[in-house]
Amino acid sequence: MSKLLEYNATLVAREDLEPTLSIFRLRPDEIHRPSEGAWFVPGQYVTIGMNRAVVEGETDPRPLSVRRPMSIASPPEDDRDLEFYIRRVGEPESELPLTHVMWPIRVGERMYCRAVATGHFTLEGTVGLADRRLKLCVAAGTGLAPFVSIARSRVRRDPHARLDDLAIVHGASHPSGLGYRAELEELARTNGLRYLPAVSRPGPEWTGWRGRAESVTDPGRRAEAEEALGLAKGELRPDRVAVLICGLNGTIANTITGLLNRGFVPDNRKLRRGLEVGDDVAANVFWEQYDTEPVIDVKNAELMADLRRTLHAALGK
Ligand SMILES: Cc1cc2nc3c(=O)[nH]c(=O)nc-3n(C[C@H](O)[C@H](O)[C@H](O)COP(=O)(O)OP(=O)(O)OC[C@H]3O[C@@H](n4cnc5c(N)ncnc54)[C@H](O)[C@@H]3O)c2cc1C
Repeated sequence: MSKLLEYNATLVAREDLEPTLSIFRLRPDEIHRPSEGAWFVPGQYVTIGMNRAVVEGETDPRPLSVRRPMSIASPPEDDRDLEFYIRRVGEPESELPLTHVMWPIRVGERMYCRAVATGHFTLEGTVGLADRRLKLCVAAGTGLAPFVSIARSRVRRDPHARLDDLAIVHGASHPSGLGYRAELEELARTNGLRYLPAVSRPGPEWTGWRGRAESVTDPGRRAEAEEALGLAKGELRPDRVAVLICGLNGTIANTITGLLNRGFVPDNRKLRRGLEVGDDVAANVFWEQYDTEPVIDVKNAELMADLRRTLHAALGK
């Protein structure tokens, strides 16, 4: 049984975009700063948590508290607060879903935050800071958070920073779920960010990209996607583009498989083994997964044979 968490952070702002989609801004009482450099790297996450109500005299078999990792959407240059972009999950798997416990909280209320950032889904930990290729960031729903932090941080350090090497594709069911849209559109106008909001269940008023975020890697929509991303025809290829994906397993799997016929190689040992890719072949597709389902079932022999054929044909093997 989990023990009660000692609350050490205050909710200082909250923006509700949809009934189950919100931006939360937390102010930890204390921040553990390294002696040098920023207190986290854009793309990292922290753990937040809450206790459930304990009613005296009542037995409740659920755990007393729940903690979950959350990507940081704010930049490290915000040196007091941490921002999170959170979906209240519709079909939780646990006895005590954090997103259900925390949904009623209001500005001024307290919760738990382990303000020590961790994770390797950063530019440094994936493509490397020196990489000059376009970074195609594919985000479904709240998977946008790490990319917002990356873009914001650059502009906070230098308001004139160019973001032409970043393309953010953000997928939502409806336009109301396109969190950070105004800010990203502004970064597109002023700093050259390539921002492509994608709506999978659009109404007739939606004139932008139709489909899920990963549909930009669908081989059947390649020419359309290259144009929308500001790429020349045929330019969506590993010597010009590196891919970062964040969200649930379906988005990640579809993005990976959609790009195999252009020779994009995933950064995952098991998957690379299944695809029979040697250690000498550089990875150019990286991801952060929010759920625990396997991204691709490497034990599915028929599927793997098919994916292998596609990739090896593209790699000229
Ligand atoms: C490194 C990392 C960073 C994360 N960052 C974020 C973030 O920035 N924002 C965020 O909302 N979640 C994020 N998550 C997911 C988060 O940790 C929880 O899994 C999620 O909030 C559900 O927790 P719960 O206790 O409410 O539900 P649980 O009872 O744990 O239910 C789990 C179910 O929720 C689904 N689920 C998990 N995350 C989401 C989501 N974002 N949208 C829709 N369904 C989801 C899973 O598929 C699973 O079926 C992150 C996960 C990881 C591993």
